[in-house]
Amino acid sequence: MSRRALAAAGAIGLAAVAWSTKASQPGTAGQHQVAVAPVAARESGETPRVPRRRLERVRPVVLLGGTLLDGTGAEPLRDAVVVVEGGLIQFAGSRDQIVIPPRAVVLDVTGSTILPGFINAHVHCRYQVDRLRAWAQAGVTTVRDLGGPRTYDLVARQNGDPQLARVVAAGPFITVPGGYPIVPWGSTNAVTVRTPDEARSAVAQLAGEGAGVIKIALECGQDFGRVIPSLDAAEAAAVVSEAHARGLGVSVHLTVSVDVPRAVAAGVDDIAHMPVTTLSLEMASQVAAHGIVWVPTLELWHWVGYGHKPAAISNLARFLAAGGEVAMGTDFGGYDAEFELGMPMIEIDAMRQAGMSPAAIIQAATRNGARVCGLGDRLGTVEAGKTADLLVVRGDPLADLEALTDVRLVMHSGVVIRDEGPPAATAGRT
Ligand SMILES: [Zn+2]
Repeated sequence: MSRRALAAAGAIGLAAVAWSTKASQPGTAGQHQVAVAPVAARESGETPRVPRRRLERVRPVVLLGGTLLDGTGAEPLRDAVVVVEGGLIQFAGSRDQIVIPPRAVVLDVTGSTILPGFINAHVHCRYQVDRLRAWAQAGVTTVRDLGGPRTYDLVARQNGDPQLARVVAAGPFITVPGGYPIVPWGSTNAVTVRTPDEARSAVAQLAGEGAGVIKIALECGQDFGRVIPSLDAAEAAAVVSEAHARGLGVSVHLTVSVDVPRAVAAGVDDIAHMPVTTLSLEMASQVAAHGIVWVPTLELWHWVGYGHKPAAISNLARFLAAGGEVAMGTDFGGYDAEFELGMPMIEIDAMRQAGMSPAAIIQAATRNGARVCGLGDRLGTVEAGKTADLLVVRGDPLADLEALTDVRLVMHSGVVIRDEGPPAATAGRT
């Protein structure tokens, strides 16, 4: 047994013993199942009485034959096998390391690429079901809502439905009276504080109600042509320490580079927009050195105009040169424009223009997105033990990122929510 298989066996415990490995059982049923009819879904064993769409709730599901891009930064693994059971990834690796579990639902994804479910780490979705369904269908299985009403109960209920993208919700901003987003937007999605103690209480309140992340604003107003008050250093630091004590990350809104040092000093976890004024390499290096993740929202700047998009792309290039980590996020719904729902190709194309490779973009949209959602231990990579959120696309997104829109299959929390079947040419063969 290889080291990789041993590691997987350790992670899946008894199930690994039951399935054994192909190496120890040459010519087993696993080999036979691989060879049979190339239809979208086959069941090994007798026909079950539960409908096909619910099979994955009671049987292991095996994705067989695709190229695995697991989101860890590892090289692509061809002819891979991913085994899912009980909503979790039980095995992800090479076909010769595992025997297909008996009674598994086997989905042939040859010619496709298996990726972690994508994460849009900056949206404002108002928890609308049609939006959440559209994201999930596109393989964006998680979104992080960085500012909205405090309807955490609704979010919790919706998160029980795998047909909908999972939402990690900040709820209202924590800001000061007259601060952003009350000014300039008149937003009511804000809790105002006047002292560090009030800042701590606000975090405790939102955390208790169900916030998955805390959002603050350090917006001086420069890009809005006015002065906007914001949390002082002690208040911002109080928010961060209280959030961290409660296991929550802090994301900060800012739009100009002059506000970046305040975000670094406060110790935030991520910055929710790339600034539109020049970011010095020194400042970019500071952010990178503190391990603060940047969520560029280049699609926002695309819609806003005023040359903000090329400015933000240049700043992102500088941050990358400084070794910084990026998570993909668009600010969907954060500005009056028709943001892309589903796979955000405008954002992805702009990230590419900043010099990010397809592999880096995929990592930003998966592993790093999970990190800023505070779900790095459960989501973002295809590894044994993680929640089975998977996007399978036809072709090779490393060669052409457009492949991300050619969806073959989506699995959310272990449930297949979209299955387009194999390509027609393969399905027609006998
Ligand atoms: Zn926003």
